[in-house]
Amino acid sequence: MKILFSDAFDPSLPGKLSRFGEVTDDKSQLADAEVILIRSKTKVTKELIDQAPKLRLVIRGGVGLDNVDVETAKTKGIQVYNTAEASSVAVAELAFAMMIALPNHLVEAHQSMSEGKWLKKELKRTELYGKTLGLIGCGRIGKEVAKRAAAFEMRVLGYDAVSVESPHIKMVKELADLLPQCDYLSLHLPLNPSTLGLIDKKRIAQMKNGVYLINTGRGKTVVEEDLAEALKSGKIAGYATDVWYSDPPENTPLRGAPNTLMAPHIGASTTENLLRIGEIVEKLIEKFVAEK
Ligand code: NAD
Repeated sequence: MKILFSDAFDPSLPGKLSRFGEVTDDKSQLADAEVILIRSKTKVTKELIDQAPKLRLVIRGGVGLDNVDVETAKTKGIQVYNTAEASSVAVAELAFAMMIALPNHLVEAHQSMSEGKWLKKELKRTELYGKTLGLIGCGRIGKEVAKRAAAFEMRVLGYDAVSVESPHIKMVKELADLLPQCDYLSLHLPLNPSTLGLIDKKRIAQMKNGVYLINTGRGKTVVEEDLAEALKSGKIAGYATDVWYSDPPENTPLRGAPNTLMAPHIGASTTENLLRIGEIVEKLIEKFVAEK
């Protein structure tokens, strides 16, 4: 059995998987691969599947399957899995790091010091304590963020398409009811037709003036042009994002916008999470081999 590593996983994983067969990261061997391991970069399209006649198992190390043509895979009898439960803490910690960095002006403080400036009077910070956080998408990651916000004594409101139970979140029925109440908003949505461009001009107008927005979900759930406008006008006080229209982004208006904090899609990339993902991948392959 040939196992193809098409994207980067924990460096210890290829060794661990060698007990199941031949392990390679040479993409020219796609035609012989029975198992292919991907993260965000590789797109398992119909074209890729057509070039892999022996393919029986695709495992995506991460949340979501938006880079896999699941329908085509199904029709060819290819099993598709992700490791959805592994990444929640890693992403929640990044969202929280961003939520702390924005109102403390950590980027500006560092940059100005590097440039020899002393902005002690200019950099006015605000606290998370006592503020209202709105979570848009209250699944695994949203709930982990809520726990951390509760420890900072924030009031946490949540909006989700399905009913959610969390001791740390007070759920509201409509997004329009949530937006005007929040000092901070954190997006934890998948990309689907109902979330594409959800945060646009109209939604931004419903937000409090000077709101901070954090996005570690999916880039296309926001309209970047509308956010850039709102950042320029000060309607949004800061936008921190890990996610983009494409990886890496091309010509994003956010690059020139004020008060942005940008990360290169590193939400899942903690050492601990890569090990957790590896453990799940190993179990899935073990099960696949046992059922062969
Ligand atoms: P999850 O499935 O547990 O939670 C997503 C929630 O969004 C669900 O509760 C769902 O009901 C809700 N939702 C879907 N459509 C909605 C809509 N139109 N309005 C309101 N709520 C809606 O997923 P999760 O594990 O919490 O992950 C959330 C997202 O985070 C993933 O889908 C992925 O896009 C993103 N993610 C990013 C990184 C990163 O590296 N930055 C890593 C992992 C996951």
